[in-house]
Amino acid sequence: MSTHQHSSLTDIITHTGEDRSSYYNAIAPPIIQSSNFVFDTIDDMRKAFADELDYHIYTRGNNPTVEILRKKIAALEKTEDALITGSGAAAIATAMLANVQAGDHVICVQKPYTWTYKLISQLLDKFKVTYEFVDGRDIENIKKAYNKNTSVLYLESPNSLTFELQDLEACGKWAKENGVITMIDNSHCSPFFQNPADYGIDIILHSATKYINGHSDVVAGVICASQKMISKIFEESYMVLGTIISPHDASLLLRGLRTFTLRVEKSNETAQRLAEFLSNHPKIEKVIYPFHSNFEQYELARKQMRGAGGLITIKLNAADKSGVFRFINNVKYFLKAVSWGGYESLMMPSIVFHDIPGRPDSPIHWTYVRLYCGLEDYEILQLDLQKALDAI
Ligand SMILES: *Cc1c(COP(=O)(O)O)cnc(C)c1O
Repeated sequence: MSTHQHSSLTDIITHTGEDRSSYYNAIAPPIIQSSNFVFDTIDDMRKAFADELDYHIYTRGNNPTVEILRKKIAALEKTEDALITGSGAAAIATAMLANVQAGDHVICVQKPYTWTYKLISQLLDKFKVTYEFVDGRDIENIKKAYNKNTSVLYLESPNSLTFELQDLEACGKWAKENGVITMIDNSHCSPFFQNPADYGIDIILHSATKYINGHSDVVAGVICASQKMISKIFEESYMVLGTIISPHDASLLLRGLRTFTLRVEKSNETAQRLAEFLSNHPKIEKVIYPFHSNFEQYELARKQMRGAGGLITIKLNAADKSGVFRFINNVKYFLKAVSWGGYESLMMPSIVFHDIPGRPDSPIHWTYVRLYCGLEDYEILQLDLQKALDAI
């Protein structure tokens, strides 16, 4: 990244949204743990109700601690405004529900995040919104799925397991020409490595549980968009569903954000090095990492992303399932857990979703394991994997 980008991120993280003179010049943003706010006069009260998104009336709408976070996140994603929700799933559902009605059609990329899939195929389906999941690696598939009722194009680039990409510039342009609203789950890249607003994507969503908070101690989400779109979402779904985050959790996110650039850079650097190491190991059949030169969409990744982040998926060269179990049980530093984005390195083996009585096997083969590179020393992580690979 250029120094220019760095300095503007630093500026956002230190200053944007903060108004220290209004809270005793405290350096750290205060936790305003209050459900409601008092007005001095009837005029003030009337003025506030005309603009509930910008005034402090009630914490389900706009809380001062949450508002500081909103402003920083919007600036990081280069959008006019943002809303913070109690989870990434809430951000996705809240943004979607404000933009569809019965009779509409949604185009979504194949294999989106599990609960996005359920939102579209089950919840929206109940309200007569139709949908189609398409392979978004080729924009022709998106164009083919389009019909006159298509209102939303939902993207996830890269997805967080096998990292398929969509050409954001082409999608943004096509959608604008066809009056389709574009939404993207940008959790994988975080605003550090990709700003979909640069390509005309309308709504940018994150699971802030991952890189934005970065400490595996809060579940949260964000919605970034133009002022007009944020007002629409605020009125039509956010206030109705009550998907706000608590002031206390917002303050943990603000604290997590202070080290955002350091954390994401370190996680990325370790992953980039580990991907190289793993791709040369005989016990590994394949490494999937968007910035590895063997990646199927490498050129596109280089074009629209500034880094590929801390997730790597490997396909083990194991003859049977017991080899995979030996590998998993021999790894010590990559903790066996879902999620990612915190300090600790994690692993998520596909074999977890195989041979479960009464359930179909995961479409991802049992030799696949997703690794998240946390902030431990590279040498420790590399040695840990090397030992476990030897055990296969
Ligand atoms: C975790 C995750 C989500 C869901 O976010 P929650 O904060 O768990 O609700 C959505 N998309 C992606 C890509 C994720 O990794």
